[in-house]
Amino acid sequence: MPELPEVETIVNQLRSRLLGRRIVSTWIGWERIVDRPPAEEFCQRLNQRIFADARRRGKFLLFPFHSGDVLLVHLRMTGNLLLQPSSVEPDRHTHAVLTLDDGQRLHYRDVRKLGRLYLVDDTEELVGRLGPEPLAADFDAEALAARLADRRARVKSLLLDQRVLAGLGNIYADEALFRAGIHPLRLGESLSAGEIARLHAAIRGVLREAITAGGTTLRDYRSATGQPGEFQERLQVVRRHGEPCPRCGTPLERIRVGGRSTHFCPRCQPAGGA
Ligand SMILES: [Zn+2]
Repeated sequence: MPELPEVETIVNQLRSRLLGRRIVSTWIGWERIVDRPPAEEFCQRLNQRIFADARRRGKFLLFPFHSGDVLLVHLRMTGNLLLQPSSVEPDRHTHAVLTLDDGQRLHYRDVRKLGRLYLVDDTEELVGRLGPEPLAADFDAEALAARLADRRARVKSLLLDQRVLAGLGNIYADEALFRAGIHPLRLGESLSAGEIARLHAAIRGVLREAITAGGTTLRDYRSATGQPGEFQERLQVVRRHGEPCPRCGTPLERIRVGGRSTHFCPRCQPAGGA
């Protein structure tokens, strides 16, 4: 949390609001929230920068400036990026504030302080090794098959590996595997072409629906305008262990895969495949 749909929602909201806006001052309340360069240099270099765009790559937010350098934000577990009027004072969980030339402020808020801000000339060092974007036009079932074939790792772990596929996290990986009827402990190499086609459709379907719903809010996620998402109402397996499967009525189960809590239906997602 947040994953692709939440980051996409924030980026879409910020793009029109930030385009052409100039940063007039930057305040950092907790220096370690800035990964690079050192916080003092970060603030100096952001001064007078003009936003040229807002984009997403995997779970990163990218804000290129007309000067050529790029501000990247990774929200990790509990980060929020909120566009606020000047009347809103930063609270104790707000660790960075960018004041814009129209008086608005971009607040970086993060209860667990695991997220990071980066200002770089070349984004490759951060996003260069990410796998393909699951919603890209050229990401077809064959492209997914190429990422999973020959992999002797659990399919759940492979879906969470940002080098395999960019943007999926724990929530949407579980939901996609449920929709595709694939057990999370299956090995990548064991999946048939038919199963991979179902998984491909399930990943894209769940991500698109979640973007339309403004993302999922289980606890901390808020959009750039402070709104919670609505997709949590439509989660079919995540955090529903013990409840009946919405498809077959079998109690949903929870296991750990690679240290991550994993929800599935033991009947709809058979361990040996269909
Ligand atoms: Zn079921």
